[in-house]
Amino acid sequence: MSQPTGQLCYADAYARSVSARVRHVEPGEAALVVLDRTVFYPGGGGQPADRGVLLRSADGRSWTVRGARKAGGEIVHELEPADGDPPEVGDEVRVDLEWARRFALMRTHTALHALCGVVWRDHGALVTGGNMEPGSGRMDFEFERMSGDLVDSIEATVNSELVAGREVRVNVLPREEAFAIPDLIRTKINLLPEGIEEIRTIEIVGLDLQADGGTHVANTSEVGAIRVTGYESKGRINKRIRIELVDPILEA
Ligand SMILES: [Zn+2]
Repeated sequence: MSQPTGQLCYADAYARSVSARVRHVEPGEAALVVLDRTVFYPGGGGQPADRGVLLRSADGRSWTVRGARKAGGEIVHELEPADGDPPEVGDEVRVDLEWARRFALMRTHTALHALCGVVWRDHGALVTGGNMEPGSGRMDFEFERMSGDLVDSIEATVNSELVAGREVRVNVLPREEAFAIPDLIRTKINLLPEGIEEIRTIEIVGLDLQADGGTHVANTSEVGAIRVTGYESKGRINKRIRIELVDPILEA
């Protein structure tokens, strides 16, 4: 997952604003815009795409970006339809994220990885999927023995791991090296296409390591506390745990 330069979210999750030039525009009901650099996360791995604003330097005109996605290796910004003509190729724009929302997603994403780490370490249960919104999320596990009591103890353990202030590291490893890490086998690394030469990993030091393309906080102390809001059976073996941040939106 070697990222083209200009896709800042993968190297610096805290980059919330950047100056950029418009490289490609596809007009339409919701115009699509490609920039030479961006702070937007295009969505993926259960983390929704960012929202934000493009502000044209020349005349101060602005456009709401309601979403983004990856297409052909590029991050494509989707504009809100109500905003009239899109910017033009060559325009210089300031790219601003809706930061409170993104930061809540970073905290939620890291909280979900802490949950995965605890459930794997203490119960040996594999994660099979997950999804999130700003401030809340769910993870599915192969976890036959899950019960209400167990879920309470998992909540307490996750919170003690978060408050411990564990560092969260982003690493990009050659594929072969990544495959040699036993912990990564429990994630979806084996499903990655043949062509991918490098694997991006997110490590909560001492707790969890996963192949992951998302944006995370730098330290678990930034997550604050979580609470488990529900758990359900999706079959005899497959179980779902829902969590939320106790303080969903913090001043960043
Ligand atoms: Zn993740």
